[in-house]
Amino acid sequence: MKTIVVAILCCAFCATFVEAKTDVTKQPFGKMPDGTPIEIFTLSDGKVEARIMNFGGIIVSLKTPDRNGKMEDIVLGFDTAEEYVANSHNYYGAVIGRYANRIAHGTFTLEGKQHSLPKNNGENTLHGGPNGFYNVLWKAKQITNGIELTYFSKDGEQGFPGNLTATVRYTLEKGALRVEYSATTDQPTVVNMTQHSYFNLAGQSNGDILGHQLTLHASKFTPVDAGLIPTGEIKSVASTPFDFLKSARIGDRIEASDEQIKLGGGYDHNWVLDSSSGKLAEAAEVYEPTSGRVMKVSTTEPGIQFYSGNFLNGSTGKGGKPYPKRSALCLETQHYPDSPNHSAFPPTELKPGQKYDSVTVFSFSAR
Ligand code: BGC
Repeated sequence: MKTIVVAILCCAFCATFVEAKTDVTKQPFGKMPDGTPIEIFTLSDGKVEARIMNFGGIIVSLKTPDRNGKMEDIVLGFDTAEEYVANSHNYYGAVIGRYANRIAHGTFTLEGKQHSLPKNNGENTLHGGPNGFYNVLWKAKQITNGIELTYFSKDGEQGFPGNLTATVRYTLEKGALRVEYSATTDQPTVVNMTQHSYFNLAGQSNGDILGHQLTLHASKFTPVDAGLIPTGEIKSVASTPFDFLKSARIGDRIEASDEQIKLGGGYDHNWVLDSSSGKLAEAAEVYEPTSGRVMKVSTTEPGIQFYSGNFLNGSTGKGGKPYPKRSALCLETQHYPDSPNHSAFPPTELKPGQKYDSVTVFSFSAR
């Protein structure tokens, strides 16, 4: 009798467990300037809620519980799709491609051919150019536990060679938002995609991120020049403000008298991850002590850009609230900036017949 009761209870539990799926719903969310409707999807796994739109693949809001279960939106952004479209160069929450971060002087040579890209960051090209993947409308469809976005980037678009079909899958399960990028091309090209959410684990517009505690599983980083282009050196973080191997308060060394800190105006650098096997491995952890929120970032990528929001300038975001300098941080998993111009960096070339694959998981908890 006892065994039967236990078996019945066990089956009931298992059934509930197996059936527990992420809820995905779709709603209209404004229009593109040409009148094309924009869609927004709400993904909810009962713990975390993410709202993602098909313009720029942007994470519009991300609500996670603090240590008392209080939900708060922890990403910067706007209230309306129209504001995102008008201010796309802020990159809030967006998918970045074809090439995340900078390409020096907007040029690179691939298989003997030189390519010119539009410059949108002084002398350089940033985040794929002025009309990168963050600034286009993706095709969206619902999949199990999330959505799949597809974008066809034509040969020559933003100066990049090859027709490229790019896919981003966002899925949410057990408090973890998984982002899977893939792409194929019909000509040799370069690809480096990332996610550009600005996080403040105390809640968006709730103070600065200087008290956040950061761990980066990286013993080295790539120093930059005055244009934030890697010099090519791969430098040890030992005895520098770039050592986050053990958890450290972001504000502790952000004003250190260090040449690299000065050039970045704080942190705005690529860390070389210790795990470079291409397998999914933990890259970073952020802990916010007042709320107890924790975010872990795992990736298959060899690098991560930690950007401490140095260029945020107080402009208005959600709910009319200002976003001052360092009121959020970005952790952008990636290949190193300007790799097409550095043959010693892990390569970013994609050839016809190959598939670009990259996975990053953001996991949320509280303690
Ligand atoms: C870059 C910053 C840039 C920011 C724009 C980051 O990935 O490293 O230099 O200002 O993106 O939002």
